[in-house]
Amino acid sequence: MAKSITTIGIVGAGAMGAGIAQIALTAGFEVILYDANEKALGKAAEDVALRIARLVEKGQAQPEMIAQAAAKLVLAYGLEAFKSADVVIEAIVEQLEPKQGLFQALEMVVREDAILASNTSSLSIAAIARACKHPGRVCGLHFFNPVPLMKLVEVIFGPATDPAVVEAMLELSKKFGKTAVRVKDGPGFLVNLGGRAYVTEALHVQSEGVADVEMIDRIMRDSAGFRMGPFELMDLTGIDVNFTASKVIWGGYMNDPRIKTAPLHENLFNAGRLGRKTGQGFHAYPENAPARPAYTPPEDDGTTSLNAVLPDADARFGSLIKSSGLVEVKDDKASPILISPLGEDAANAAVRLDLDPARVVAIDFTGIERRFVTLMSPLGGNGLVHEVAQWLNARGFATAVVKDSPGFVSLRILAMVANLGCEMAQIGIGTPQDIDLGMKLGQNYPFGPLELAEKLGPPVVLETLTAMQAMTGSDRYRPSLWLRRRAMLGLPIHTPD
Ligand code: NAD
Repeated sequence: MAKSITTIGIVGAGAMGAGIAQIALTAGFEVILYDANEKALGKAAEDVALRIARLVEKGQAQPEMIAQAAAKLVLAYGLEAFKSADVVIEAIVEQLEPKQGLFQALEMVVREDAILASNTSSLSIAAIARACKHPGRVCGLHFFNPVPLMKLVEVIFGPATDPAVVEAMLELSKKFGKTAVRVKDGPGFLVNLGGRAYVTEALHVQSEGVADVEMIDRIMRDSAGFRMGPFELMDLTGIDVNFTASKVIWGGYMNDPRIKTAPLHENLFNAGRLGRKTGQGFHAYPENAPARPAYTPPEDDGTTSLNAVLPDADARFGSLIKSSGLVEVKDDKASPILISPLGEDAANAAVRLDLDPARVVAIDFTGIERRFVTLMSPLGGNGLVHEVAQWLNARGFATAVVKDSPGFVSLRILAMVANLGCEMAQIGIGTPQDIDLGMKLGQNYPFGPLELAEKLGPPVVLETLTAMQAMTGSDRYRPSLWLRRRAMLGLPIHTPD
């Protein structure tokens, strides 16, 4: 392998190739850029020069950078130009055969010690490497779009990848100014696999009629703290992109029900309602729509406590709500009975605890720090749930009332996000730390999935999922063994195997 990397070859000068060329140039590397389409190559060179000039204008780069980048960029009109490259990064069309063909052709030209990296977002690194004489030098180097702005790079190793190649690419990513995570080859790699829980669980919540897309998005933003609700996120990335990714990744994991999507996803795809880019997806995007106001919970008028009953069976929730001073425990035979079931619906909890269902109000308090709670009551509902919601509003809490269901909305989606993160640690997609880092930088999550499991409490996540699996009969909710063991042993979720 090359002792030091100074020359980067890039094949494919589209959106990604041009972005990679820009960051390599601004990091001071020699860059050789090639595209089968000469027009695309010329345009990429112009775009890169323009963007670097803009960085200088904004004071984000030194003026000398313009001349330095121009001097270090070589436009190539054939693969022979790559014979001096230490690394060649491929960013051509997302199809296996052209990528295999390109890597075979590159191997005829490049030095013995040159590294060949693919920016593929979905193809198997093992399959690309299979076609090569020296598969040990092949790895994935997965940048995110737009390359200059997105901090994360996934360095992907296949079964044949030489560990020294992985180390060299982690180092190179750092020199590019990126944060790299080491990822085992597999469908969706790290970020795209990890992202399946948030969106597909939201689709299941919607399809079961628990809440509509507006309410689910609102709960996940305002109560759980995500920057975007799952449906807004899918509309932004495009239903064509995320439906296809969901299907491919689910298939790649041999139809694991944990990451299966719901029919509504396909319906929208078939209807061509692809999200923001077509003006309609899960939401409509009319022109000049007013911006959504920022979340602010209502004012606390500080007046009364609520007379309520807190069954002993729910001690954890009971002590939390008692210590908040919001509730005065008083059984006058008419007050609401407040419970907070984990993964069980209110009806089931009422029967199990032998409570009067007409008085039971279930509260999801995963969003209590953000002063947002979700409420539900047993089948058929009861007026009390709205009275409790109103009282909570007067005490400075935002509320959402959803249909009775196992796991509410936020608890259920968060438990699934946490569980998938744990499963990814279990199967060695990345270290627990890299899984957290990847999801925060690659998907803008406010917390990593394992950090989330730790925050909710591994036993809480385990109990939620176990109850959901029992209630629904679906293995979609089967807890990861990584989670189960740490919850049972009382160990932190990041504890290595
Ligand atoms: P793009 O269509 O913008 O650019 C691809 C370029 O490759 C085109 O200019 C095309 O002329 C050229 N090309 C195609 N076949 C070639 C060949 N055999 N030899 C030389 N040049 C060839 O595509 P993109 O969005 O830049 O994506 C490139 C790769 O990066 C794909 O594998 C894609 O999956 C991956 N990727 C894309 C994104 C994204 O958001 N766009 C994000 C991460 C990874």
